[in-house]
Amino acid sequence: MYGSSESPRDQGGPFCDIRASSDSGFTLLVTVACGYDANRNGTATGVGNPTPEAGGGPLRCTVVPPVLVIFASVYGASVAAFLPRVAHRLDVGFGQDARDSCASCGRPFPGWLHAGAACPCAPRSAAVVPAGAAVAGLLATIGPSAMLPVYLLAVVPGLLLAVLDLRCLRLPDRLVGALAVVGALPAAVLRPERIGPALAAGVLVLAAYLLVAALPRGGLGLGDVKLAGALALILGFAGWPAVAVGLLAPHLINGPVAIVLLLTRRAGGRRPLPFGPALLAGAVLAVTTT
Ligand SMILES: [Zn+2]
Repeated sequence: MYGSSESPRDQGGPFCDIRASSDSGFTLLVTVACGYDANRNGTATGVGNPTPEAGGGPLRCTVVPPVLVIFASVYGASVAAFLPRVAHRLDVGFGQDARDSCASCGRPFPGWLHAGAACPCAPRSAAVVPAGAAVAGLLATIGPSAMLPVYLLAVVPGLLLAVLDLRCLRLPDRLVGALAVVGALPAAVLRPERIGPALAAGVLVLAAYLLVAALPRGGLGLGDVKLAGALALILGFAGWPAVAVGLLAPHLINGPVAIVLLLTRRAGGRRPLPFGPALLAGAVLAVTTT
């Protein structure tokens, strides 16, 4: 993992990889420009080996600042705090409109924006806020990349999809579509040369998951198939290694997820296991490890 997927390496010039430990305990492999500064044997040589072809130009550095991870985590936690109300409103049967009042006490919901528990009668959802912080913070470890705001924006529909799949085993088409648009559209503007491979990845993964879903006891719903295709489309802009990790990781993640769900009695018996959270977690892993 490099400090930035928009590594200055792409802009030409000598760089070296070092490991840096931050105050917050993160150990990050970072890409640091070596050379190209006014004093070729000064600061730059202090952080790495200068390459022989060092020329003129400013010293550039893409160290992942802990403050970026902290800001992203705070953003993720803040966004996640608004999700219980939205998830409660969208926790309806297939084809039904979003509910406009609490399912338990009937209290009317005047709007969608409400931080904290979905309703005063509902217990506080302890997991969603730390999950939002963890996901956004993990994504920020890719460094100050132009793609980071895209991924952070995609956290909103992504988290909501995970929560809904856990709550009611549904991955609404509109939300999957929103995730695809929020993730792929800015990526297409930033990396137009990757539009072809990204579309190919989306179609290939969609077809592969459709095939598995069609198998008897395939264990996948059509919502999973569409979500896998949308995520592959987004990961296609990050490269084929990201698509491969995004394709394989969910199947490795789903085992532990299933154990947690069985232990917390959220699954078991005839209730099928949600696969959406594993797909989404796999995509986060793919972005941060490739
Ligand atoms: Zn209520």
